[in-house]
Amino acid sequence: MKKEFVRAVPVLERLEQRGHLAYFVGGSVRDSIMGKEIHDVDIATSATPQEVKELFDRTIDVGIQHGTVLVFHEGEPYEVTTFRTESQYKDFRRPEQVEFVTSLLEDLKRRDFTMNAMAMDKDGILYDPFKGREDIESKIIRTVGSPDERFSEDALRMVRAVRFMSQLGFEVESSTYQALGEKAHLLSHIAQERKTAEFQKLLAGKKPKEALKVAASTQILQYYPELDALMREIKRFLSLDLEECQTFEEWLSVIALASAKKESMYREWKLPVAVIKKIKALIEGYERRNREFYSRYQLYEIGLEDAHRIERVWSVYSGQPAQYARIDDLYAQMPIQRETPLSFSGNDLIKWSGKKGGPWIKETTKDIIQRMLDGEIVNEREFVKQWLIQGNKQ
Ligand code: ATP
Ligand code: MG
Repeated sequence: MKKEFVRAVPVLERLEQRGHLAYFVGGSVRDSIMGKEIHDVDIATSATPQEVKELFDRTIDVGIQHGTVLVFHEGEPYEVTTFRTESQYKDFRRPEQVEFVTSLLEDLKRRDFTMNAMAMDKDGILYDPFKGREDIESKIIRTVGSPDERFSEDALRMVRAVRFMSQLGFEVESSTYQALGEKAHLLSHIAQERKTAEFQKLLAGKKPKEALKVAASTQILQYYPELDALMREIKRFLSLDLEECQTFEEWLSVIALASAKKESMYREWKLPVAVIKKIKALIEGYERRNREFYSRYQLYEIGLEDAHRIERVWSVYSGQPAQYARIDDLYAQMPIQRETPLSFSGNDLIKWSGKKGGPWIKETTKDIIQRMLDGEIVNEREFVKQWLIQGNKQ
């Protein structure tokens, strides 16, 4: 058993001592079988949330209406969720209220895919009623029970299927694949934030292109706003070196460039403001780069790291080779760089010029930096002072 599970065994033991059932479930069991690193160790139990809270010293209510209590053991947080079913689905979404049950099997039945519907007890024994292990070995994503029904209950599962494709490098089993195409339209009922969150995980996975291809051919992509232009040219889009993208923002810049409706896309995808800001900067950088190579002043302003990001977006979307070495050379040759401390301050400029503060400070600073980059002014306090005084006399 992996050390993360071993550390959590006392939590299971505690629950069992009081006569409850308790198991490790979900992604951590799947990932450990795959020999992958595991992150969150989730626990399912027959104990009610109230009973769980009484058994542990430190707990936080994180989703009591879904039966989830966060339990701390030796400083580590564990989500402990009461066995439940989700019988009454409404509007193709998971219900607000759940029904607690006493059987592990019932709980595993409501889970999305066979690989996610396994449980492991404190001795490392696997409970695998839907043959998730076999599917993992054959690298197959298959719903627990009828895919039509399971996707109709909760349409988000369809996006989860393609995100797991990308993350795990698995294929979607054929009847599950067919149901994706038939039920994709139900995604119109799902909150965009949740669809965007799954999409982000898809893009960060190891096979994003394969997953996007399936998302396009099953029409899942249709339920991401403003991608009409991209969908029309999906062949060209998928022929780009998309895997070069290293961050969500880089990916979304390339997608936005291909979507041709950037502004409304940012809004409708419900992206956080900070993310939108970064994407806009990347696209602006891309557009400038498409006209000409970076100037020294531009490189000074954006810094080496962001220049590489822009270059990557430019190279991926334009299909031309990235010129990182040329950027690095130019940067290395610059007399001052973004990181270089300036030898003077705005206050110095006021003192030396005898003028009052105002917008001219910013402009003059910019002018001095530009001249430093051109090699006309040296980044030394006395040099700047003399230059300013002489300039003012003229
Ligand atoms: P990750 O490694 O990304 O966290 P995960 O499998 O743990 O993957 P979570 O979203 O954390 O995914 O969900 C935990 C478990 O809850 C899943 O393994 C699955 O059993 C169940 N689950 C999550 N979302 C759904 C859903 N929409 N429908 C049914 N079961 C779900
Ligand atoms: Mg998880």
